[in-house]
Amino acid sequence: MIITIDGPAGTGKSTTAKTLADRLGFEVLDTGAMYRAVALAVIRHRVEPDDEAAIQPLLRETRVQVQGPKVWLNDEDVTELIRDPEVSQAASRVASLPVVRRFLMELQRSAAKGRNIIAEGRDQGTVVFPEAQVKFFLTADPAERAERRRRELAARGVCRSIDDVLAEQNERDRRDSSRDMAPLVPAPDAILIDTTNRSIEEVVALMEEYARSCRGR
Ligand code: C5P
Repeated sequence: MIITIDGPAGTGKSTTAKTLADRLGFEVLDTGAMYRAVALAVIRHRVEPDDEAAIQPLLRETRVQVQGPKVWLNDEDVTELIRDPEVSQAASRVASLPVVRRFLMELQRSAAKGRNIIAEGRDQGTVVFPEAQVKFFLTADPAERAERRRRELAARGVCRSIDDVLAEQNERDRRDSSRDMAPLVPAPDAILIDTTNRSIEEVVALMEEYARSCRGR
């Protein structure tokens, strides 16, 4: 069974995916981590994140693996490195390139084969797993999303002003929603959940109830 959770940054996708997965006995597929790992490879090769011609050959020597919370790039554990704000921006730029999207879509589909998966990202319910039995699309007030992200960065020792975080968030939202291939939009059959004034527990309870009712069908 596949459950998808899509939505912009800071809406609670990762936390709700993990909590729901624990409750249902599913595994999580963090697809944003895959875009981040490709972005890190691109940064390290000093290639511009929009340079499709230079990135295409690079992908042939790029191996990305995501297992639960751990992310590997060519056998190096990059779990922490990919959370850097510089990588976030580069990730949303490489994510506009069809060559990168095709590369990761194949990886995502093969990672989900034969498993019970909660796939979280931007296009999981629309493009990668349109046949998923349960789809959620999370939204939240931009100021609250930025504040959540600021706190998350601060907890990792990265101190950013709320204005900087909000500006970077707006830039990523704009890019993710306006790209030609697989833009950030809810699937027509997705359940929309506004997480602004809801606790993680409340959101997961809603999701769990809905997922269990679909499982029984
Ligand atoms: O979710 P996260 O912030 O880790 O994603 C990083 C970037 O990867 C997003 O801003 C988006 O551009 C891209 N992404 C995507 N499609 C996905 C997951 C992430 O385009 N399924």
